[in-house]
Amino acid sequence: MKLTDISYARAVMEKHGIAPQKRFGQNFLISDNVVSRIADTPGAGDSELGIIEIGPGIGTLTEKLAVRYKKVVCIEIDTSLIPVLADTLSDFDNVKVIEGDAMKTDFATLVAEEFPGMCVAVCANLPYYITSPVIMRLLETEGLFSSVTVMIEKEVADRLCAAPNTADYGAITAACAYYARIEKCFTVSPANFIPPPKVTSTVIRMDIYGTPPVVCEDKENLFRVIRGAFAKRRKTLANSLSGETSKLTKAEIEAALVSLGYRADVRGETLGLEDFARISDTIVL
Ligand code: SAM
Repeated sequence: MKLTDISYARAVMEKHGIAPQKRFGQNFLISDNVVSRIADTPGAGDSELGIIEIGPGIGTLTEKLAVRYKKVVCIEIDTSLIPVLADTLSDFDNVKVIEGDAMKTDFATLVAEEFPGMCVAVCANLPYYITSPVIMRLLETEGLFSSVTVMIEKEVADRLCAAPNTADYGAITAACAYYARIEKCFTVSPANFIPPPKVTSTVIRMDIYGTPPVVCEDKENLFRVIRGAFAKRRKTLANSLSGETSKLTKAEIEAALVSLGYRADVRGETLGLEDFARISDTIVL
């Protein structure tokens, strides 16, 4: 339990001849309080829970997860960290480390093989260079995980939790709202890492819906509408959507919007997920 001790963490890295790698987004946590709070977030007290951790680093968060939950499976891309983790996590028989890329992991197979019959959550201090694509991959597993707790850049967390009509609101906000209720838990300053990142971080918890919060006929079209709505942010929704399809003219899209009770010049950034679901049932791109 010493990995949050900066001298101990440095000694471990020195022993194994490694240093944090920028290309893998390695900023290791060194605050016991922060690591404990992250580990508590998926379900403190639920000792039957299984956890998938993306990017264990030298095992700092992993050891806190291992004492709280039934089983922890970690996916680490950096080959040089595998022997380090074998060393730092040697006391735990409920931890498995898999060398791999979270962007390529087949999470459904992993859960079926490693956590049969168990409730599984994700918990990670994510490498910032793949935050959004990893989050979308995890959410798109629909129903595989009970929750996803991740530490990410504060700026991205603000975007994920933004309300319509605000500067932070965008396609990713509406897309994630389809899959999960997202809650900001706490912020973490750069001083809590080695090396310190340039930005402040936020821990978010995403509770994944059993059934989507909106009904729509064609989910793929809903996501095309959401992406299209923000493709040309400063333009009207009709203008932006007409640039995404050759099936409908701008005038036809305006007429469809008016038939749904919106102004012809409504802007995408003013609309919520429910609006996009209604619109996607009428406007097929
Ligand atoms: N969990 C550790 C901690 O909190 O101190 C390390 C977090 S560090 C921000 C991100 C970790 O993700 C690193 O260990 C890095 O090597 C790993 N990583 C980066 N890209 C990855 C990927 N595509 N798949 C799996 N792990 C990845």
